[in-house]
Amino acid sequence: MTAIRQLDGRKVGAWEAERDERPFCCPGCSEVVTLRRGGLIAPHFAHKPPVTCEYGTGESEEHRRCKIAIYEALLPHTLVRKCEMERDLGAVRPDVSAYINNVPVAIEVQASNLTLEKIRRRTEEYARRGIYVLWLPIYKESLKAELYAPRPFERWLHEAYFGRVYYWVEGLRIQPVHFRDYLTRVRGRTKDYEKLSNRKVPIDGEPCSLVEDFMPVERDAWARDFIRIPQAKLFIDKQPGWYEDAALRSLHARRTSAQRGAWSPARRQRRAG
Ligand SMILES: [Zn+2]
Repeated sequence: MTAIRQLDGRKVGAWEAERDERPFCCPGCSEVVTLRRGGLIAPHFAHKPPVTCEYGTGESEEHRRCKIAIYEALLPHTLVRKCEMERDLGAVRPDVSAYINNVPVAIEVQASNLTLEKIRRRTEEYARRGIYVLWLPIYKESLKAELYAPRPFERWLHEAYFGRVYYWVEGLRIQPVHFRDYLTRVRGRTKDYEKLSNRKVPIDGEPCSLVEDFMPVERDAWARDFIRIPQAKLFIDKQPGWYEDAALRSLHARRTSAQRGAWSPARRQRRAG
């Protein structure tokens, strides 16, 4: 979505570039790229065929729209500094990055073609650089159903982010969702028994703002079954567990206020009431 304007060597976004400022070059391979803008498509730059460069491949139209929307919503916000799209950090290039409340944050819009291995590696890399990462799949209607079968990366995110997946809705609005285990009855030879289903019960938290309602957290490495979470720096929401019963919730609140950094008193009071 960004390219280098040869005229002055500056990085420009496809949404702001003008055709008469050509040529534009790919930040990855330096080949000349074409500005695609107009009509119904989200503005972007495209390689000329045959395409051998991996920079920006695999981005869907939906993914591009989401990136622009987040970028444009963050940019004018008073609590946000240095907002940039596709910042080149060498090994990683976050979709959108910024200082949010003075916390360095990388936002990665989850494209469906990313493997767990890549998500894990990038999460590790951000932690190494002291950047807090927020992985954001895009909200979809099927999450409103009673049962939902999370994809492998959603299960991974659910473990990484302490039992929540954050879905991007619009602008800065994020929908946190918890997936509760679901048992199905299976007919056995002698008697019926219950077994953990691949499908889960999605339980919505309060919709929240990417700027006001998130905070930085560090977590230790952890592994179970096929899920391996590296030591990570994560950007997570401040809500106590809306899916836990009251006793667990107060334990969670104590634990998180110690572990995740203190909440503001105003917030704690509102939650307690
Ligand atoms: Zn390229």
